[in-house]
Amino acid sequence: MANACKLAAGNWKMNGLRADLLEARALARAFPSPDCGILLCPPATLISAMAEAVRNTAIMVGGQDCHARENGAHTGDISAQMLADAGARHVILGHSERRADHAESSGDVAAKALAAHAAGLVTIICVGETEAERDAGKTLDVVLGQLRNSLPEKSTAANTVIAYEPVWAIGTGRTPTREQISEVHDALRGAVPDAAMSLLYGGSVKPGNAAEIFAIGNVDGALVGGASLKAEDFGAIITALEAA
Ligand code: PEP
Repeated sequence: MANACKLAAGNWKMNGLRADLLEARALARAFPSPDCGILLCPPATLISAMAEAVRNTAIMVGGQDCHARENGAHTGDISAQMLADAGARHVILGHSERRADHAESSGDVAAKALAAHAAGLVTIICVGETEAERDAGKTLDVVLGQLRNSLPEKSTAANTVIAYEPVWAIGTGRTPTREQISEVHDALRGAVPDAAMSLLYGGSVKPGNAAEIFAIGNVDGALVGGASLKAEDFGAIITALEAA
């Protein structure tokens, strides 16, 4: 069985102006030949400029969402082809903020993933339970159900990464216990269609807790929100992943 690739992915969400590209440049200088993949997903307005800023470096650039259609009358939306054309290599899909704010279902995510794969993008598919679902003992049912319904056929380790992001841990400073992360990641490893698929943990990953999280079995990296905005913080997380 092939080993899953290690990946540190940063989700800038709706943060970042052109001046912030210096953080991407600083990261590229700090990690000329990293021992893991490094990905930054800025807002769509910065993808092209960031791809240019880190051209010929180890830093990869990705989008945060895409439409399921190639083109057409979808005001304000962006197709997977457009992301690829702007310099993106990955796209985050099914982030809990999109599932909540835009009522995206797992079926929607699968349709977007199909379009992304057709455009040559690697998808980072997010799954995760709410606090109420965890309290009700439904964590594995929810996460495995989202996994089953969000992945199109022909999803492989080459075109798909999974991010387990408990909704209650995102942007809250709260992280699950070792055992809680381990339980979900072990279940995901057993359920993914390709055992070599990378499994990221996301939810309040910081320089101070990254090493502990990366030491957990079946955790191949992280999807990082707030701590990915500054090269110094994200760099410390990347260094922890390289050492894991
Ligand atoms: C995220 O938005 O994917 C995330 C994990 O955010 P944070 O690291 O800020 O909790």
